[in-house]
Amino acid sequence: MDLGIRGKTALVCAASKGLGKGCAISLAREGVNLVITARGREALEATAAELSKFKIDVQFVVGDITTAEGRSAALKACPSPDILVNNAGGPPPGDFRDWDRDAWVKALDANMIAPILMIRAVVDGMIAKKFGRIVNITSGAVKAPIPELGLSNGARTGLTGFIAGLSRTTVQHNVTINSLLPGPFDTERLWANMEFNAKKLGKTAADLAKVRRDANPARRFGTTEEFGDACAYLCSAQAGYITGQNLLLDGGSYPGTF
Ligand code: NAP
Repeated sequence: MDLGIRGKTALVCAASKGLGKGCAISLAREGVNLVITARGREALEATAAELSKFKIDVQFVVGDITTAEGRSAALKACPSPDILVNNAGGPPPGDFRDWDRDAWVKALDANMIAPILMIRAVVDGMIAKKFGRIVNITSGAVKAPIPELGLSNGARTGLTGFIAGLSRTTVQHNVTINSLLPGPFDTERLWANMEFNAKKLGKTAADLAKVRRDANPARRFGTTEEFGDACAYLCSAQAGYITGQNLLLDGGSYPGTF
């Protein structure tokens, strides 16, 4: 299926590794020109080189997307994207008794306010062009909270509530806003959380990974390729009637009928 977005431009935040990189690769395969960001230069440069093999224009911007400077650098390189993929690292796990106001403000900044400010910067340009696709990478925690990830549960649900309203106002201009909710995907972040829980339980991360894979109806973790392809579809020309949705990609782990 041709997704009808060849020649469009996407700004994919936090895309040197993991899920963001998966989205960038799937969009590149569709012929979308890319601006990708991350804090670390080395992995970002390597990913940009990998993406250039798809014969598209690729730029990379080193910076922290949760800061005003990081966002303005990304937007300077890509002031008027057709596609925006919002992403950043997730907040650390822990016990809510240990989180003071600063910890909460940091989580809200990174996983709620940063994506909202990115949308604010680009959405009117998309409306003027009568085409825009915005995808937020959030978490399965929005649908079913993860106890040790309270900062993530809280901040991402705030973003989701805001998007629910905004997305209904932009779709008449062919600008859609949706979120992808990853369950367990095989990335560095997954293994970092696994190490945290393993240490608490006196087990190894490999032991825990086996337990988690076995408990998932798919009996495995998701791949970044699967995640990226779902993102590319939401960014497609054909997906103009899908907005304000929260698509759970978790191998069937969430047990609800809906
Ligand atoms: P990952 O493998 O650790 O990759 C994170 C990517 O984001 C890297 O390229 C990283 O590069 C970049 N990044 C992180 N913080 C950034 C920032 N402040 N500014 C710019 N770039 C930043 O993580 P992932 O698994 O892909 O996770 C992506 C998001 O999905 C996270 O918010 C995570 O919590 C969420 N999530 C993941 C899973 C899962 O199973 N993997 C499940 C639920 C939710 P630098 O470090 O160089 O900046």
